[in-house]
Amino acid sequence: MSGCKGIIVAKTIDEVRTKVAKWQAEGISVGLVPTMGFLHEGHGSLIRKAVEQNDEVIVSDFVNPTQFGPNEDLESYPRDFEADKNFCEKLGASLIFNPGPDEMYDRPRAYVNIEELSDGLCGARRPVHFRGVCTVVSKLFNITKANRAYFGEKDAQQLAIIRKMVKDLNFDIEIVGCPIVREEDGLAMSSRNTYLSAEERKAALCLSRAIKSGKENIKEGMSTKQLTSLMAEVIEAEPLAKIDYIEAVDGEMLQPIEKVQGRVLVAMAVYIGKTRLIDNFSWEGK
Ligand code: AMP
Repeated sequence: MSGCKGIIVAKTIDEVRTKVAKWQAEGISVGLVPTMGFLHEGHGSLIRKAVEQNDEVIVSDFVNPTQFGPNEDLESYPRDFEADKNFCEKLGASLIFNPGPDEMYDRPRAYVNIEELSDGLCGARRPVHFRGVCTVVSKLFNITKANRAYFGEKDAQQLAIIRKMVKDLNFDIEIVGCPIVREEDGLAMSSRNTYLSAEERKAALCLSRAIKSGKENIKEGMSTKQLTSLMAEVIEAEPLAKIDYIEAVDGEMLQPIEKVQGRVLVAMAVYIGKTRLIDNFSWEGK
C-alpha cells in the first residue's frame, strides 16, 4: 500500500481491508464511490458528495470485465490511472482501490442477478451487463464495508437495480443517487465521450436535445409512445445517430408502461457512429 501526497493507493483487497478495519475501530464512517476510472466531473460530483457526508472516502477504479459482453469495448475502454489518482486526491478522497482483474476474480462461480429490473432497457441489449455490475458492486460492498455508496442517475437502470439489490439482500449500506452532470452544451459526461470524433461530438448533442424535448412535452396521462416518438424524431434528424432504444418505464421496477403516470423513467441509448451513449430523465406525477 502506498501513500502518494496523502491519498492511499491500494492494489489488493487485503490492503483495503486492513485500512478499513483501522477506520472501523475508530468509529469512522466510510463512503464508497465505485467507478471504472477515466474520471471526469460526473464522477467528481459523486466523490464531492461522499467527502461531504463521510469521514473517509474510497474510490474504486476498476474496469470490471464481468460487465462487458464479448463484442464490447473492454480492451479499448479508456484508462489513465495517474490522472484518476490526482483527481481523487484533489477532491479529498482517502483511498483509491485499483485492483487488477486477477485480484478480483479467481474462476468465479458466484454471481448476483437482480431479476425483472435487469430484463429491459440496457439489460435487453447487454445480457451479462447488470449481473457483472451487481456482482462487482456486492464484492466492493463486502471489501470496503462502506456506510454509504454513491451512484449517478446517468446510469438510471443501474441505480434502480442497485437499490433493489440492497433491499432484497439486506446489505447494510445507504445508497445515494446523484444528478447527471452535463457538459456546458448539454452532453452528459461519460468516459466513452472520448471515443467521439469532432464531428460525432457535435452529433451527440441530439441526445440531450431529445431529453429536453421529452421533459418539455411529458404530461400526466399522455401515451408513452407519443412521448418517445417525439424524442425519436429529434434523434432521427441527426444523420450520424442511430437509436438503440428510447423507452418509458415505471421508475421502480422498470417495466414498460403505456401511459405517463406515477414515477416514470424515460431512458435511451443511441449510437453515434460506433459509440453507444446513454441518457435519461425521470418524471414524477403529482
Ligand atoms: P463509470 O465509471 O462510468 O462506471 O461510472 C461510475 C459512476 O459514476 C456511476 O455511478 C455513474 O452513474 C456515475 N457517473 C458517470 N457519469 C456521470 C455523469 N455524467 N453524471 C453523474 N454521474 C455519473
